[in-house]
Amino acid sequence: EAKAQGRNNYRFFTERMTAEVRQRLLMENRLRGALARQELHLMLQPKFWVADRRLSGFEALLRWTDCDGVATSPAEFIPVAEESGLIIEIGSWVLRQACQLAAAWPAPASGPALTMAVNVSPRQLAQPGFAELVASILRDTGLAAAQLEIEVTESALLERTGNVKAALDGLKALGVRLAVDDFGTGYSSLAYLKDFAPDTVKIDRCFVTDLQNRHDNAAIVLAIITLAKSLKMEALAEGVETEEELAALAQLGCEAVQGYLTGRPLALDSAAGLVAATARP
Ligand code: C2E
Ligand code: MG
Ligand code: MG
Ligand code: MG
Repeated sequence: EAKAQGRNNYRFFTERMTAEVRQRLLMENRLRGALARQELHLMLQPKFWVADRRLSGFEALLRWTDCDGVATSPAEFIPVAEESGLIIEIGSWVLRQACQLAAAWPAPASGPALTMAVNVSPRQLAQPGFAELVASILRDTGLAAAQLEIEVTESALLERTGNVKAALDGLKALGVRLAVDDFGTGYSSLAYLKDFAPDTVKIDRCFVTDLQNRHDNAAIVLAIITLAKSLKMEALAEGVETEEELAALAQLGCEAVQGYLTGRPLALDSAAGLVAATARP
């Protein structure tokens, strides 16, 4: 009886596995086609300085809408792209496209240059010659290195060996900015924060939610901001959705924000309009 049950469990398990594998392969093939048919595009979510509410730049977010108008979330297809290796091709397209867009921005009427943040997956970072790829894209597009910010999650930093270390050192040498994304949700280690020395710490949305009412979130956000300040890093809060959260963040000394309150991810023409408005004196 127990044995039969075990066999059944096993069969159930393998059937489910097969279905999952099939799903992945299907998605991988669709993604390959999407790349060929140029169904991928970027949206740009604005980031703002808290002190003067001025635009600080944008984050490039990948979108996939197929010919039937069906949109797939990056949270769904990025992992498939990573596992299949397609992320290498997709990721360099994103970088090139984002740098091209940012290179065309007029300078703001006052204040620092706008930055373009680009998400980079662990697999891309570990690809030999990643920093050289970034260098050639900057050369080709004419974007200033200091206007590009590479966002990396904590998990990508876990294996800081060989290629990853070379990539991070290479990016630093170019003068490209580094950001740690979704800070506090991964295998955070203060040792890697010290080593990696990012320019920006992006406080994950889960700590920002209902900040004004939640003592636990407020305590964590204050700790991250304090740490960032003393290490001379910029603290940016992600996923700010309400005025109450923004006010609480301002009070805690958070420098920059990004979220639905201040701006949803925008189509390229809307983003260009926002940039043009900041360029006028
Ligand atoms: P992320 O880098 O942490 O990006 C922030 C995500 O939060 C985006 O989701 C954005 O649309 C969403 N968001 C922004 N403000 C708010 C808010 O106020 N409330 C809520 N609920 N959500 C907000 P999206 O665009 O679906 O991207 C999900 C993730 O996919 C990104 O998280 C990033 O890890 C990954 N991703 C997106 N584009 C790329 C890419 O070009 N390359 C790589 N490797 N990963 C990417
Ligand atoms: Mg990001
Ligand atoms: Mg994030
Ligand atoms: Mg996230």
